[in-house]
Amino acid sequence: MADLFNASESEIRDGNTMDVYFERTNRILESRGIAGVPVWAEFTGSSLPRGWDWAVFCGLQEVLNLLEGKPVSIHSVPEGTVFRPRTDNSVRVPLMNLYGAYTDFGEMETAILGMLCQPSGIATAAARTKIAAKWKTVLAFGNRRMHPAISGVIDRSAYIGGCDGVSSKIGGEITGTTPVGTVPHALMLMMGSNDTAFKAFDEVIEPEVPRIMLIDTFSDERTAALDACRSVKNLKGVRLDTPGSRRGNFRDLINEVRWELDMYGYKDVEIIVSGGLDEDSVAAIADTCVSSFGVGTSISNAPTLDLSMDIVEKNGKPLSKRGKFGGRKYTYRCPHCFEMGVSLSPDDDLKCHCGSMMDMIEVPVMKDGVKVGPDRSPSEIRESVLKQVKQISEL
Ligand SMILES: [Zn+2]
Repeated sequence: MADLFNASESEIRDGNTMDVYFERTNRILESRGIAGVPVWAEFTGSSLPRGWDWAVFCGLQEVLNLLEGKPVSIHSVPEGTVFRPRTDNSVRVPLMNLYGAYTDFGEMETAILGMLCQPSGIATAAARTKIAAKWKTVLAFGNRRMHPAISGVIDRSAYIGGCDGVSSKIGGEITGTTPVGTVPHALMLMMGSNDTAFKAFDEVIEPEVPRIMLIDTFSDERTAALDACRSVKNLKGVRLDTPGSRRGNFRDLINEVRWELDMYGYKDVEIIVSGGLDEDSVAAIADTCVSSFGVGTSISNAPTLDLSMDIVEKNGKPLSKRGKFGGRKYTYRCPHCFEMGVSLSPDDDLKCHCGSMMDMIEVPVMKDGVKVGPDRSPSEIRESVLKQVKQISEL
């Protein structure tokens, strides 16, 4: 075993992270000669955490990367689909349907669910924060509160959910974006003063990195803001990470710094805020002059979605456990209000409560272990999420 406790990619692929009862199940099925029986398994969710009334489906690309080469076929709603859980009907709507011999994918259930449930929670929290911020810039700064092994997963999910930038190098690689960051308090503490730290940053760091100085380390924010303006020629912004014990009325503090900056002619210097922000605290100051929000734990540690995998058809015949509905089902969604629908037929005429006709939205994404369909970049998925989230926020 390695010194670090995270599973490596090969350990995940080899099944070391699976719940052990799946491995036992496979051994039993193989011993009785029914290992190759084909099944349809569906991935569904019931209610959402925190009373959320919609969520963003995220993580599909990694699931496809995991299952590539295995003899399975998958139909799924596209990654980035915004969906509402059903409230008036107990038939759950599949977000993903998987076909294959149970023993060829059953051992991956733990990994597949983890790759969908947590990223979908993070993407949803990011999308909600983006709404709370009134579409202003939201930067994902929460990796430090979670295990480093999943930094890339967190950043990709936050980005797809609508965050405008991510802070980790691996997150930047995965999302195809330049990672963003300002200045840690450590720089000022090590350099001994705001002024020396600001000047050193400006001299050492390449010019394409935006100059955003942190102004709550030693002194009053408005004094430090002006110091930053005077020390750094192309100052883009100042960041207030003011601790709760000094914050008082954060709105007033933000407005006071803005006033001071404007008064001395620094109207273009932006104000960025961070420090324990969540959806509610972002919403409370979204209408101020703040241009960007650095949001950490509330996005990275978002509640995970409670999706589950269930066999719904075996050897072409419907079956299911008690409490679930048998049969391979097709997934529909209202294009207007995003309510979900389900049918045993792929070309049903389903009408939404709002009066619109629903669309069948699942698409084939893997055939016999080969990915099919468009290969969408994280930024394309993010754009589609933002469009849907705008639509749902205006209902
Ligand atoms: Zn509708």
